[in-house]
Amino acid sequence: MSKTALITGASKGIGKEIAITLSKEGYNIALNYRKENEELLKLKEDIEKNNVKCLLIQGDVSNFEDCERFVKETIQEFENIDVLVNNAGITKDMLLMRMKKEDFEDVIDINLVGTFNVTKNVIQYMLKARAGRIINISSVVGISGNAGQTNYSASKAGIIGFTKSLAKEVASRNILVNAIAPGFIKTDMTEVLSENVKEEIQKNIPLKRIGEAKDVANLVKFLSSEESSYITGQVINVDGGMLM
Ligand code: NAP
Repeated sequence: MSKTALITGASKGIGKEIAITLSKEGYNIALNYRKENEELLKLKEDIEKNNVKCLLIQGDVSNFEDCERFVKETIQEFENIDVLVNNAGITKDMLLMRMKKEDFEDVIDINLVGTFNVTKNVIQYMLKARAGRIINISSVVGISGNAGQTNYSASKAGIIGFTKSLAKEVASRNILVNAIAPGFIKTDMTEVLSENVKEEIQKNIPLKRIGEAKDVANLVKFLSSEESSYITGQVINVDGGMLM
């Protein structure tokens, strides 16, 4: 039976790159997206050029019923989920003084509660299979903190606690749970920052370059593979040495 990977928030950015990378490894892809965009069908076609299937599963990860539905759709199509990548995420940056309660809650609901919602619906199948990999996309700011991101860094620190606790709960069933903490990666999420801010960030990265989505996807590939079968409960930075 071929393997299946479910990736949330995979219509663009890091999630899209993870979907393409895992398809090249022979995984059928259940590709979660929230908003329709005209490139989705093209992405599905590109993924299927790698001789795998791609199922587009619409849903908002902050909505538990959506997650329940799209996980069921995935199981109906592929019978199992071998790899889950909780990647969907947003930012709503603002100093706490001016941050609205909704902006705090929205970020926690999508980034942290969303990770719970999807994992909660997937874990039963992994427990039954006595195998699985869960890879949660956190961030270096979940470790270091960042002014203007109390909501985002709290959500990403929460993902780290979630990852370690779940890793302990399911290790005996051969389910491995890890988190990736990217630094500064070139996507729409970071495109909104001014050129000055980007230059300043780049200066402070020891490897002197901004990361690519591929840099993160390569680690997902490793954490999904047999080669990483003795690694669980870890947070691995992909940040060009930004945080040491
Ligand atoms: P991005 O280009 O903005 O992509 C985010 C993706 O998440 C989009 O496909 C978006 O879909 C989806 N998404 C957002 N809310 C969703 C929801 N409620 N339900 C389902 N999907 C949803 O951002 P990115 O840079 O690729 O970020 C991917 C992950 O990496 C995020 O968790 C982010 O926090 C993390 N990260 C990024 C960086 C960085 O420097 N870029 C650094 C550290 C961590 P829609 O377009 O439909 O909303």
